Amino acid sequence: MRLTVIGTGYLGATHAACMAELGHEVLGVDIDPEKAAALGAGRVPFHEPGLPELIARHTGSGRLRFTTSFAQAGAFGEVHFVCVGTPQRADGGAADLSQVDAAFAALAAHAAPDALLVGKSTVPVGTAERLARTHDAEIAWNPEFLREGFAVEDTLRPDRLVFGVASQRAETVLRAVYAPVLAAGTPLVTADFPTAELVKTAANAFLATKISFINAMAEVCEAAGGDVRTLAEALGHDDRIGPKFLRAGVGFGGGCLPKDIRAFAHRAGELGVPLRLLREVDAINMRRRDRVVELARELCGGAVLGARVAVLGAAFKPGSDDIRDSPALAVAARLRLEGADVTVYDPVAADNARKAFPLLGYAATAEDALRGADLVLHLTEWPQFREIDPERAATLVARPRIVDGRGVLDADRWAAAGWRFRAPGRPAPA
Ligand code: NAD
Repeated sequence: MRLTVIGTGYLGATHAACMAELGHEVLGVDIDPEKAAALGAGRVPFHEPGLPELIARHTGSGRLRFTTSFAQAGAFGEVHFVCVGTPQRADGGAADLSQVDAAFAALAAHAAPDALLVGKSTVPVGTAERLARTHDAEIAWNPEFLREGFAVEDTLRPDRLVFGVASQRAETVLRAVYAPVLAAGTPLVTADFPTAELVKTAANAFLATKISFINAMAEVCEAAGGDVRTLAEALGHDDRIGPKFLRAGVGFGGGCLPKDIRAFAHRAGELGVPLRLLREVDAINMRRRDRVVELARELCGGAVLGARVAVLGAAFKPGSDDIRDSPALAVAARLRLEGADVTVYDPVAADNARKAFPLLGYAATAEDALRGADLVLHLTEWPQFREIDPERAATLVARPRIVDGRGVLDADRWAAAGWRFRAPGRPAPA
C-alpha cells in the first residue's frame, strides 16, 4: 500500500521505517526541512537502537522517502498516519493540539477523497470526533504504545493494536496495513473514537501511577526507616502486582508520561471528572526530584555550594538521547543553581543536553566526570553505570559520596568500598 507518515520525530520516523519494513511504499512528511533531508539521506537525527539500519535499508531500496510537501503527500497516499507532537501547552497542563490541527487541515486540503486519515499522536479524548466533524474525510485513531529505546521492536511486534474506527471500511483498511503484524498473532482491539483515545492515556496514567505508588512508599520508608527496594522486591513477587515499573527513585520524565497525565487530568476536568488521583501522581513524582537534591545537600554537609558534582546520565531513560523533562537534568540544573560545579556524563544524550543546558559541564567519559568529584549522582539507568567498580571509582573522586537516584546499585558493595551511599527510600548502609 502507499502510506504517508506526517511528522517524523521519534514516533513518526520509527513508524515510517517499520511500515516500509512491512512491505509498504512510504512517504514521510515533516515541516522541518533539515529533518526530512537527513532522513531522506538515510540519517536518523536521534538515538534509537535498530532504527538507523532500517531507515538506511529502506531509503536505499527506494521504498521509503521523505518530503516537506503536503501536495506530494496528498497525491501519493492511500492512508495517511499523523504522528506530530502534542506537547504540553505553555499556559497549563492541557495538550497543545496545534500540530495535530495543522496536519489534519493540510491533509484534508490535499488528500484523495477516499484516503483514510489515521491519527497516531496521543490526544485528549474527543479530538478524533472533533476532527471528523471538521473535515470532510474518513478518520481513524490508532494510538501508539512504543517505548523509546525499543521503538522498532515495539512497532513490529506490539503487545496489541488498537483501532478507533467509525466504519467497517476504516477497519478493513487498517487490517490490510497491519496484515503481517496481525498474522503474527498480535491482539487487536477495535473501539469507538473516545475509547481508542482513552486506551492510550489510561495506559500511561496507569504506568505513571505505578511508579508514583512505589515512590510514595519510598516516602513512607524514609519516614519509618524501611527499605523501599526490599519492599518492592517482595511486592513484585505477587503476580497481581508484578515487578515492572516498581522501582523507587528520582521518578519518571520524558516527552510522554508527564505531559500525558497532565493533559489527561485537564481533559477529565473539562468533562466534569476531577481525576485528582493523577494530580497526586504528578506531585509525588516531582517531589522525588526534590528528595534527590535534598540527599545531595545532606551528603555535602548541608549545602552543595562550591561542591564538584558528577551526574551520571542526562537522558530521561536509558537507550535514548531524549532529554525532554529529564529528571537527571532537572536535578543537575537545580544543583547548579545552588552553586555546585556540575559535570554531566551520558553515553548518547550529551549533545542534546548541552544545547538545552549550556551552563552545565559535560565530560566525554564517566571516568572524566568522576575525576575530582565531591559527590556522584546516578540519575539515568544506563547499564554501564551498574558496571562501575566502586573501588576503582573511589580512587578517581575527591570524596566518595554517591546518591543512587535509580535505586539499582548495590549499597553494601559501595559502602564496603568506602563510599557514603544514599538512595531515596532507603536507609544509609550500616
Ligand atoms: P516529536 O516532537 O519528536 O516529533 C514530532 C514531529 O512532527 C517533529 O519532527 C515536527 O517537526 C513534526 N511536525 C510538527 N508539526 C507538523 C506538521 N504540521 N506537519 C508535519 N510535521 C509536523 O514527537 P514524538 O515524540 O515523535 O511524539 C509524537 C506523538 O506521538 C505525540 O503525540 C506523543 O505523545 C506520541 N507518542 C510518542 C511516543 C514516544 O515514545 N516518543 C510514544 C507513543 C506516542
